[in-house]
Amino acid sequence: MKSLEQGLDRRAIIWIMNWTFSGTAGCTAVALLITYYYIAPFGGEVMATSMRLALFIPLLLAIPLFAFIGIKLQQLARANDLLTLASRYDGLTGCLNRAAFTSDVTAFFAEQDRKPFPATSALMVLDADHFKRINDHHGHLAGDQALVAIATEMRTAVGDSGLIGRLGGEEFAVFVPYASPETIGAMAERIRLAVAERGQAIAPGADPVTVSVGVALFTFPAHYEDIFKIADDQLYLAKNTGRNRVCLIEYARLPGGIRAMAAQLREGISGAFTDVFGNGGDDLGEEPSRVAGR
Ligand code: GH3
Ligand code: MG
Ligand code: MG
Repeated sequence: MKSLEQGLDRRAIIWIMNWTFSGTAGCTAVALLITYYYIAPFGGEVMATSMRLALFIPLLLAIPLFAFIGIKLQQLARANDLLTLASRYDGLTGCLNRAAFTSDVTAFFAEQDRKPFPATSALMVLDADHFKRINDHHGHLAGDQALVAIATEMRTAVGDSGLIGRLGGEEFAVFVPYASPETIGAMAERIRLAVAERGQAIAPGADPVTVSVGVALFTFPAHYEDIFKIADDQLYLAKNTGRNRVCLIEYARLPGGIRAMAAQLREGISGAFTDVFGNGGDDLGEEPSRVAGR
């Protein structure tokens, strides 16, 4: 594994030195004690020679042995860290992969369902607009760079306040616990604007990079699948009403609750109560409505 060959970092080297020193000191102390216990009755020169041997033999054997084992343990720990990273994070963008994102968010849902005053939270689903055209016109490498740029802008906008996942292809998701309509609306809009601005540089011309965003704001108890369905429906609404825009829906305004809303969506009813912002890259000529609380 390439990263393993790059050597151990400072922290690992200090750990190996401590481990080698403690292990050697321990072995030497035990050797000296045992030798003293058995050789003490003989006294004199025998005792002195035996104690010297009990000091030097462990030093000679233990230092290389503990150092070798220490290096191997650190390499194993590093390989484990790399495996954990590879299993949780997307290699291109550095976002959580779909499995890790879903598992982390589901765990938060389960925890909140048990709390007396659960937080209001938001799930955002983002999809790059006309991304196939970016690949077709500018090449796959430019497409990859655009995905990295989208992830970077998402990280800048979200900071430490939420989790960012790459669901697959050119689709991303953000989960923000403890979110208010104002903060989540502003965050989604910040991502959209930042990508649109940077997208001009990544893919100039007729096909700059933009994103459409669907947001579901809700309180618990809730099922992840239902919330995802609601946010995904908002995303498709953003796509169908011009792209390069954000569609946001608040649970508080949904009659019948989350389950009923998700069930309705599964039956094909959508679009009620949505707040839309962003002008729409496909220029369908629609006037976006204002976002609640902005
Ligand atoms: P829409 O606005 O409706 O979402 O259109 P779209 O072109 O983005 O959607 P579509 O699903 O037709 O195409 C998605 C494209 O994303 C096709 C695929 O080649 C590209 N894509 C998916 N993953 C990657 C990737 O990792 N790198 C690159 N360069 N392209 C990718
Ligand atoms: Mg797309
Ligand atoms: Mg897509």
